[in-house]
Amino acid sequence: MKKVLITGVAGFLGSHLCDRFINEGYYVIGMDNFITGDKKNLSHLEGNPNFEFIEHDVTKFVNIEGDLDYILHFASPASPIDYLKIPIQTLKVGSLGTHNLLGLAKVKKARILIASTSEVYGDPLVHPQTEDYYGNVNTIGPRGVYDEAKRFQESITMAYHRFHGLETRIVRIFNTYGPRMRLNDGRVIPAFMGQALRGEDLTIFGDGSQTRSFCYVDDQVEGIYRLLLSDYASPVNIGNPHEITIKDFAEEIIKLTGTGQKIIYKELPQDDPLQRQPDISLAKKILDWEPKIERSEGMLKTYNYFKSLSEEELYKRDH
Ligand code: NAD
Ligand code: UDP
Repeated sequence: MKKVLITGVAGFLGSHLCDRFINEGYYVIGMDNFITGDKKNLSHLEGNPNFEFIEHDVTKFVNIEGDLDYILHFASPASPIDYLKIPIQTLKVGSLGTHNLLGLAKVKKARILIASTSEVYGDPLVHPQTEDYYGNVNTIGPRGVYDEAKRFQESITMAYHRFHGLETRIVRIFNTYGPRMRLNDGRVIPAFMGQALRGEDLTIFGDGSQTRSFCYVDDQVEGIYRLLLSDYASPVNIGNPHEITIKDFAEEIIKLTGTGQKIIYKELPQDDPLQRQPDISLAKKILDWEPKIERSEGMLKTYNYFKSLSEEELYKRDH
């Protein structure tokens, strides 16, 4: 049985990846310190003989008994309000945390895949974004703590690949959504859905002309799975190229939820990217991957998940 370590396993993407690897017949060791994750995302795995959990902060030395075949490093705050609230931890998990996991991969002779992000492109001047675009990031702006941690993460990963011959994979994840996102994590989908469910107005930041391209979690997990098993060491974009303005998206959510909420406008956060769309030609070519789930289908599944949450969870304001 192959063994995989997944960091950030109690989070949104980590918990879905964990399910996928268990279903594929792997033994999964999950690691998390719950800084933005939730025990509930793992409750269905209680008693599963192919899963074990280690509560640990990956910025501290990481030790695992026995062999490891693969490491998936997904620990990191991912939502702007999270990484603005815990900026130093965000920088540390991308830098020190990644260093620890690369060191572990080297000792265990394991292949490691690290979770990078479309944020390495910053507020992009090339559209759609291809992997060879270097990006437009404000190093010292409020989002810099996340963007630069991820850029450093990519650099140190490539250094371990080149200098130590480590088998590495880098996925650049574009906005991904689905069940198990934290309702109060501030990202646009949980924010709008929570507002609709609580009967509040939907808050658009700026004039809503900024764009994003949303990928359903099952498609994202499939892309990551294929990338891990591929032999491609340079970064690969995984996301859904179907781009929409935030204003049109808010209107779609109002229609979907049938709640008839109003839209109100708030100030656009500093350095909020104006546009974002992945060019996925590379993933199509080397992984034979492209997203399959339409936004209407993915959003319905996500809405049904948020609707099933308790009143207490619906009104919980902070993590
Ligand atoms: P999330 O906040 O739901 O999950 C992150 C998990 O990492 C949480 O469970 C958190 O407790 C854990 N964690 C954070 N710091 C840790 C530390 N020092 N030690 C141990 N565990 C720690 O976020 P997510 O959306 O699941 O994102 C997962 C990964 O994917 C992140 O690396 C993120 O940068 C990347 N990513 C996500 C998206 C997206 O759209 N969801 C987009 C781009 C990149
Ligand atoms: N956004 C918004 N209202 C909200 C939350 C977010 O208009 O209540 C906007 C945000 O300014 C950004 C887009 O939605 O332009 C996507 O934000 P998110 O935090 O989900 O992801 P990111 O900016 O990291 O792509």
